[in-house]
Amino acid sequence: MIGVTVLGATGSIGRSTLDVLGRHRDRYRVVALTANSQVDKLYEQCLEFRPAYAVMGDATAAERLAARLRDSAPDIIVLAGTSGLEQVAALPEVEYVMAAIVGAAGLLPTLAAARAGKHVLLANKEALVMSGRLFMEAIQQNNAVLLPIDSEHNAIFQCMPSGFSTGFEHVGVRRILLTASGGPFRTTPLEQLAAVTPEQAVAHPNWSMGRKISVDSATMMNKGLEVIEACWLFNTTPAQVQVVLHPQSVIHSMVEYVDGSVLAQLGNPDMRTPIAHALAWPERMESGVGSLDIFSVARLDFSAPDLNRFPCLRLAVEAMESGGTSSAILNAANEIAVESFLQRRIAYTAIPQVIEAVLMEVTAHDADSMEQILADDAAARMAAERQVAMRGLRH
Ligand code: NAD
Ligand code: MG
Repeated sequence: MIGVTVLGATGSIGRSTLDVLGRHRDRYRVVALTANSQVDKLYEQCLEFRPAYAVMGDATAAERLAARLRDSAPDIIVLAGTSGLEQVAALPEVEYVMAAIVGAAGLLPTLAAARAGKHVLLANKEALVMSGRLFMEAIQQNNAVLLPIDSEHNAIFQCMPSGFSTGFEHVGVRRILLTASGGPFRTTPLEQLAAVTPEQAVAHPNWSMGRKISVDSATMMNKGLEVIEACWLFNTTPAQVQVVLHPQSVIHSMVEYVDGSVLAQLGNPDMRTPIAHALAWPERMESGVGSLDIFSVARLDFSAPDLNRFPCLRLAVEAMESGGTSSAILNAANEIAVESFLQRRIAYTAIPQVIEAVLMEVTAHDADSMEQILADDAAARMAAERQVAMRGLRH
């Protein structure tokens, strides 16, 4: 039996992961489940999967969960906070860690899994965006195995030749074609974007996801974060990553070789496919996802993204190119801007404005220590809060 920790079990990726694990109870044992504040949801998951540990975001939520488990499952050990998350990411009886916490909160527990030499199933792209170099070093130095869960990166991983970490030129790869749906506002007239609501922004045409990543998909910051993620995962630069608008979300990404071959991975837009791929790798197993109905798909469209419509994509690529902690600053500013938009404090079109202003204001440094990354993350959050206050909507 393979021991698994699911960080962020109550979220969209966490629930899909438990759906897949529930189909293979003879092969995987759930050792730990974690959630931020959803006590009721984690309680239900604890009763179903009987983990040895459950972790809540803070002590109050942990006490509430422990009280509920006292009669039904008193043997489950309840922990709280970042130290609890780091502990269950590094348990000796755990081999696989699903890193599915959203945002910067996932960084330290995901890094703890890497340092403990686990199979890290990485959904939490923000961890790599913030600390790509340190994270990849932790993977290599501790013989951990990094398997991408993000559907595009999982597709690229499936299309890449072995030995790709030595660099494209050594393995005959020319470039990555990173596909993007374009989100709900791909064709909305630009002058209407200032008035779009959080409800419209989170209504993704093809994928059902958490609120933050749904807004990131609408602005295409998600694709920008994914360009950065691809550079770290596959040891390349933004110049070798072409973003392709593909509204059907059937091709999940492609890899072009120097001989002109282009390999693509296709499938229904359902995260259980990359999750099952990473759990079973290098084997294959059932995920619960049905056959792709290629006849009803009928056609596949492709176009280049318009950077005037999607300034966040440009900002992310520029941050990666300028290096150091720039992408951590970008990520932090984006987290504050998106949360402020979801709280109706700023307009949708203010999201890239806040991020661009923060990137101009906050000085980036070499990203060679976690202290520096976290300091610049904190400075960017403060600067972003000031920008939000300046651009705030009045009701
Ligand atoms: P979600 O909002 O649905 O779930 C987030 C999970 O993280 C929840 O379990 C929540 O309790 C936990 N969490 C949130 N804040 C926390 C904190 N401060 N401390 C501890 N736990 C915390 O998000 P999601 O859509 O499942 O996305 C999770 C990650 O996977 C994100 O990084 C996202 O970019 C990535 N991802 C998601 C999808 C998708 O289809 N949903 C696809 C690709 C990548
Ligand atoms: Mg993705």
